[in-house]
Amino acid sequence: MSAAVHGERAKCLQRLIRLDMPVPVTVALSFDAVHEAAIGNLPDMQALLAPFGDAPLLSVRPSSQDPDWGGPGAILNVGMNDGRHAELTQRLGSEAATRLYLRFVQSYAIHVAHLDPDEFHLPDVADAGSLKAMLDTFEYETDDPFPQDPAVQAAEVLRSMARAWDGTTARLLRQARGAPANAGLGLVVQAMALGTGQGECGQGVIQFVSSTTGLPMIVGRYLSESKGQGYALSPETKGAMYLTRDARGPALEDICPAQYAELASHGEVCRRRLREEMEVKFTLQDGTVQILDAVRVQRTSRASVKIAVALAQDEVIAREEAVMRVKPSALSELLHRQVDPEADRDMIVGGIAASPGAASGRIVLTAHEAQASAARGEPCVLVRRETTPEDIRGMHAASAVLTMRGGVTSHAAVIGRGIGLPCVVGASDLSIDRKHGAIIAPDGREYKAGDIITVDGSTGQVLDGEPPMLEAVLDSAFQTLLEWADEFRDIGVRANADTPADAQTARNFAAEGIGLCRTEHMFFEGDRLGVMREMIFAEESEDRSAVLDRLLPMQRADFQALFEIMAGKTVCVRLFDPPLHEFLPSDKAGLRDLAEQVALPLPDVMDRVEALAEYNPMLGMRGVRLGIAIPEIYDMQARAIFEAMVAVGKKGVAINVEIMIPLVSAVREVELLKSRIDGVANAVRSRSKSDFDYHLGVMVETPRAALRAQDIVEHAQFLSFGTNDLTQMTYGLSRDDAGRFMSSYVQQGVYAEDPFHTLDIEGVGELISLGAERGRLGRPDVVLSLCGEHGGDRSAIAFCRAQGFDYISCSPFRVPVARLTAAQLALAERVSA
Ligand code: PEP
Ligand code: MG
Repeated sequence: MSAAVHGERAKCLQRLIRLDMPVPVTVALSFDAVHEAAIGNLPDMQALLAPFGDAPLLSVRPSSQDPDWGGPGAILNVGMNDGRHAELTQRLGSEAATRLYLRFVQSYAIHVAHLDPDEFHLPDVADAGSLKAMLDTFEYETDDPFPQDPAVQAAEVLRSMARAWDGTTARLLRQARGAPANAGLGLVVQAMALGTGQGECGQGVIQFVSSTTGLPMIVGRYLSESKGQGYALSPETKGAMYLTRDARGPALEDICPAQYAELASHGEVCRRRLREEMEVKFTLQDGTVQILDAVRVQRTSRASVKIAVALAQDEVIAREEAVMRVKPSALSELLHRQVDPEADRDMIVGGIAASPGAASGRIVLTAHEAQASAARGEPCVLVRRETTPEDIRGMHAASAVLTMRGGVTSHAAVIGRGIGLPCVVGASDLSIDRKHGAIIAPDGREYKAGDIITVDGSTGQVLDGEPPMLEAVLDSAFQTLLEWADEFRDIGVRANADTPADAQTARNFAAEGIGLCRTEHMFFEGDRLGVMREMIFAEESEDRSAVLDRLLPMQRADFQALFEIMAGKTVCVRLFDPPLHEFLPSDKAGLRDLAEQVALPLPDVMDRVEALAEYNPMLGMRGVRLGIAIPEIYDMQARAIFEAMVAVGKKGVAINVEIMIPLVSAVREVELLKSRIDGVANAVRSRSKSDFDYHLGVMVETPRAALRAQDIVEHAQFLSFGTNDLTQMTYGLSRDDAGRFMSSYVQQGVYAEDPFHTLDIEGVGELISLGAERGRLGRPDVVLSLCGEHGGDRSAIAFCRAQGFDYISCSPFRVPVARLTAAQLALAERVSA
């Protein structure tokens, strides 16, 4: 019997039986048999019921391949009829027997005959009158008396459960939980274990770890006698008692110590032999323990990590298996605060889930207000139509960011992921009323600046108010699991980190280095923006160099801090990339400030700003093109990098530095820059009288760079595929504007997924493999990597492994998930090899 044929519950029960546990008679129906039942071909009911004797009393429970996919509710006491009622009245007394019958008629009427639940309430008094009334109602509603033949009842139960599985809602629900479209359902038919006799009778559930933390503890309840029947035993179940001794009330351990000890030993056998933490359903029949069922303990993400690690530490499972058992998405949840899954959600608007985690705060509409709010110690949510580099300080100050425009590679999304800030972008149904400082929800509700909202960057939802949250947990089990993952992984994982804080996060998450340091972000910090603007306004090369000389010590200090944090590792610094106009103000007040700062008349400033404007800035004067046209910027950056290397070297810090040129499309660009940067390196070497080495590489983010990779590697020791721009340019799709129509494109199946979110293996992937192949032809030992936002994604990591890449680089907060994913891919390959 396997989970793929009969479902997990059936497989598990079979193993319990083989382990000699006291399990009542059980028969399992396969996925095929249940599928046939759904289309009217029922199994041979006589043969099916034969093992249960002449007057069977049965439970029927679902058994899907993965318990998380759900299934129809269990139906109990199938076989209950007038005759059985009379017999049970003798054994259990009239009240208990009638209650069982009433309960069965109710559940049969609602779930099998699909009658109106309002007509079948359980009466307060279970007596002959109330039973007759319910049976009469059944007959009135169906025109047939309540079926008395157990085989007929069982057949109808099987058919209705089989059909329920095929219903549209059930299908959509399980597909949302990851089930394939053709997932099957098995059914488990089992003899009911009713409490009879003089000794202790009752039913309960027991598990041996906490579902919340995964730590060892006895959890469950026991319900004595027939106070209630069903599997929905919960701490609130009326009359239920504790399992272990408890000051608050009676416990099973007190009244039945031997049975309690027996359950504990069954629990230990289950754990060792089923190699999993199980929730065990049991009954006591006249003091004898019966095990009805054992299912995988429900667990939070935190508990899933703890349980997997503890099972491996106790040598119940191998470390490899522990690594395979934890879903990468569970780690991602642990890294961020989450809205409590139990909390009520009052959704204001939905957008794109751009950076996971959730945070609440007062609405602020400008970066400046965000900083003021942070200074007051008040958490805030920065709401912008879209963010620009000027908003960075505001983003650092905010608890979360919400934008109306943009997709997963927009500025807000990239920065949000980089600094672990919850972020929802592209909430286009929201509007901003600047005049009144408010945002307006699609249903007309108005939220003023200062009102509290919650951004759930894991689901893309924006919520009213402040729902309860679950805190991030990075415990030792989390660290241990990742250390094991590193033993199995065969592709490097680096982080995209721009600031010392990012680098520290990357280091904490054991990134092997920095794969992309976007240096432009350094120019927006503190008073640097002003100096940068002066540089842009300088007319002559010497003036430009003079201004850049003021930026040099600041850049050097940035690199020094970064190198010290990343001591012993590799840092790949990308030279300046964005178009210059991003540093200039767009509104009147900003332009006036700028005129004052550069001591020029406002019209001159406006002319200059206009002259710098481009129709297509992302395809214009940016990246290496700036490096060639205004070489002073790259000269200054190279000098800052080398001087920082010398400075940290003097402190005994070893660091491998790589310099990366963005947006290359022609080999000559690399050739020109290489000789210039080599020149700067030589100057620093002779001035500082110290020696150092560095690697120069190219960011492949234009299709032409991929096509010409063989020439390019003549001057480049590594190639790093920047899949954000490469996707933009391969599709001819603006990464900043595609959000507007992406959802209708995906809904209509034009694109299977948003290619900025999930790497397009067919198109962009072909260009990457072509670039990698040509790069290797030109330089067999060329180091290959991917550093776009796709870097942390399972499909992109799988692709890079298949291409034999050296590493991937992703946002620091995605590093743990990438480490686990890479290990799982390597292990899965081992198993299938
Ligand atoms: C890229 O284009 O893939 C990339 C990593 O660079 P950026 O996002 O800074 O353009
Ligand atoms: Mg790029």
